[in-house]
Formats: sequence, C-alpha cells, structure tokens
Amino acid sequence: MAVQAQATEHINPYKVALQQYDRAVAYLDLPAGIKAFLRYPKRELSVNFPVRMDNGDIQIFSGYRVHHNTVLGPSKGGIRYAPNVDLDEVRALAMWMTWKCALVNLPYGGAKGGVICDPYKLSQNELERLTRRYAAEISIIISPHSDIPAPDMGTNAQTMAWIMDTYSMTVGYSVPAVVTGKPLNIGGSEGRQEATGRGVIICMDEALRRRGQDDPSKIRLVIQGFGNVGSWAAKHAYDLGYKVIAISDITGGYYNEKGLNIDDVMAHTAKNRHGLLEGYTEADPISNEELLALECDVLAPCATENQITEHNAHNIKASMIVEGANGPTTPEADDILNEKGVLIIPDILANAGGVTVSYFEWVQGLQSFFWDVEEVNRQLRRVLIKAFDEVVNTAEQYHVDMRTAAQITAIKRVGDATRTRGIYP
Ligand code: NAD
Repeated sequence: MAVQAQATEHINPYKVALQQYDRAVAYLDLPAGIKAFLRYPKRELSVNFPVRMDNGDIQIFSGYRVHHNTVLGPSKGGIRYAPNVDLDEVRALAMWMTWKCALVNLPYGGAKGGVICDPYKLSQNELERLTRRYAAEISIIISPHSDIPAPDMGTNAQTMAWIMDTYSMTVGYSVPAVVTGKPLNIGGSEGRQEATGRGVIICMDEALRRRGQDDPSKIRLVIQGFGNVGSWAAKHAYDLGYKVIAISDITGGYYNEKGLNIDDVMAHTAKNRHGLLEGYTEADPISNEELLALECDVLAPCATENQITEHNAHNIKASMIVEGANGPTTPEADDILNEKGVLIIPDILANAGGVTVSYFEWVQGLQSFFWDVEEVNRQLRRVLIKAFDEVVNTAEQYHVDMRTAAQITAIKRVGDATRTRGIYP
C-alpha cells in the first residue's frame, strides 16, 4: 500500500476543545463553578492489555474510555483505533460529544474511547482478539444505561458486533443496546452506516439553500477522507446532483474537474479490504495540501483533527466548510477563515447525523421495535434542521460565528440542566 505521509501537525486537540469552550462559555451567564465543572472530564479509564498475535507472540496494547459529562443522560461516543490515539485526543473527542448530543437535543452525555494500534496492519483475527479484550477491559464502565460506544475512525459495524457479543457473554444474555452502529442482522438500525455523511450533506444543502444556491449541479465539492463519513457524504451529494471534484484518503488525493462518478469510486474501494482509494484511475493524483487549496465552492474535511490550521487556512478557496470530521479546524484557522468570510458549519452540528441515528438505534433496540429507512431519514432530517435553525438564531443573537453559536447553544443546555439537577450531595 503506497501510503502518502500526511503531515498532521502536532496540535493538542484537547487544548483546541478547551479554547473553543472558553470562547463560547464567556457569553453565558452561568456560575463560575458550573463553568469550571463543564471544563473537566468526569471519569477517565486507561487500560493496558495483552493480545495474542497471529504469530503466537503476546503484544501489549493501551486504550482509553473517557466520560466527559453525564448530566443529560448516559454517555455516548465512538471508539477510535489509530496509532496516534492518546488520552488528550480522547478527552477532546469526549467533550465534543457532550456538546454535540446537547446541540441536537439527545438525552445523552459525551464519551469517547480509543486504542493505540494501526488497524491497517492487524489481521482480522488480531483485530477481533484486540477488540474483545478491550471490550472486556472497559465493560466495567459501559452498559446500555451508562455508556454506549459506537464506531469512529478505524472501527466499524463488525467492531461493534464483537463488543456487543463480548459484553453479552460476560452478563449471560444478549444486550444489543450496549453499542450502536451494529450490523443490521443483530439489531442495527436502517440508515445508521450512512447517517453521518448524510447529515453532513443535509447541513451543507440547507446552508446553500439559505444563500440562494439551490442548483446542486453548479456546486463543486471537495471531500478530504473517504472512510465512513467521507464516502457516504460523497455518495449522498452525488445522488443529489452535486459535483464532487476531489476526494482523498491516506493513499493521497484524487481530482477530476468534471466531477467524479462516486458509484464507480465506491465500487473500486469495495474491492479493497481497507476500502482504500489507491489505484483509482479516473482521476488525477494530487496531494492533501493541494486538495485543501482547490478552487471549489464547498470543502468537507471528513478525515481527522487539525487539518486546517493557521499555516494553510489562507490558501483555502472554498466559501463554505462543512466539518464531517471532529476538530478539523484549529481556533487560529477559524479566525483567519471568519475574517475571509468563509462560512464554517461546525463539527458538532455537521457530523451530528451519526449520533442522532445511533440514538434511534438505541431507542429501537430498547423497544425491540424497528423503523424503516424512510422513517429514520425523515427523523434525522427533522433533528438536524431544527438544530441548524437554532445555531443560526444563536449566531444572530450573540453576533458570533456558527461554531461559537453551536457551542453556546449546547453548553447552555448542559449548564442549565446541571443547575436543575443541583450539585450532589
Ligand atoms: P474512517 O476510519 O472510516 O475513515 C477515515 C478516512 O480518513 C479514511 O479514508 C482515511 O484513509 C482518511 N484519512 C485519515 N487521515 C487522513 C489524512 N491526514 N488525510 C487524508 N485522509 C485521511 O473514519 P470515519 O468514521 O469516517 O471518521 C472520520 C472523521 O469523522 C473522524 O474525525 C471522526 O471522529 C468523525 N466522525 C465519525 C462519525 C461516524 O459515525 N463514523 C461520526 C461523527 C464524526
């Protein structure tokens, strides 16, 4: 696999999450103690555990599960497998989950998990053993009523199936609602796999419509990352008639000014065990930096954190950024882009489609009553458009950008709920 090194800057995502929080919370009239409380993760579990590799060796892996806040309900958030996972990244992602769930009005707090590993280098059997052992290690703090994991970078529906099975084996009965993002045949929801990408495009479409840009064929879209979020965003945009002119993954960028045939691209990635774009020939190769700076209307970063920084924000030509990834833009880059008049639809709104349909999956699982895909997509749209509207209203009320507005809306909800519940004891 010709993996093109992508220079992800060493910026601490937790520092970014706290900077964003400090910016937003300054607008709110909450007691200082509550503002301080919301800044901290509630609970952090670090685990080191052995996994037997295919060659018989035993290797030790490290992982985390962080609960940022549980005021609004059980905590919810994905599990990431990547070589650069660390505790601060998981803390940041857990904090963003708290604001995301609050923003779309789900009865959840925020959590996140991660294991330091390279899923591209592990065999399927090694991945299964690693997942089952990690699930057993974190089973002391997950359950359908306390903390419900889901997929994130490097994990997928199969990972969730192993976690669900491992948890079920330890309690002695099947507990589908302990995870979301499961395969359909063990209690997953219709529409969950594509929900995050679909949500990205629902938000983009709504923002364009409000600007009077309602002809998709005239909109050139660039998508960074072609995993779960990026590929489904591309597919949904393509189906709506948008022109997806460039995509990328860890093997590099792929550009076609006439627009890529996304059905064709997905047929190509489906042939590769890791779903990589490598070898796709109906496009010109470009670098990640070139992709971000392409002449286009909308840029959708759907890969990972810190992709748009003070060093490359000036080069961005898109007039709208819709954040499929969590934390792709640093606060310094936000300032540059806001100054340039680029509209940023922030991660906690733009990628909230995933946790929204995860919530639907959890509700369906607890009730053992399942909805059809039309119902799932209708409810998803309803939830996201309502949140979009609230963010726009908050932005107007406080004269702030959409990220700050989204965070103000979310933090206010969690802060108010904290005051209603009171401080124990
Ligand atoms: P994934 O592992 O399925 O895909 C990640 C993609 O990004 C892959 O195509 C990978 O090759 C590519 N990539 C990684 N680093 C890159 C880089 N530096 N440059 C270009 N491409 C790169 O992960 P995913 O589930 O699609 O998650 C992507 C982002 O979306 C993450 O920030 C995640 O936290 C966020 N997110 C995911 C979900 C979800 O439901 N899966 C929900 C909300 C937010």
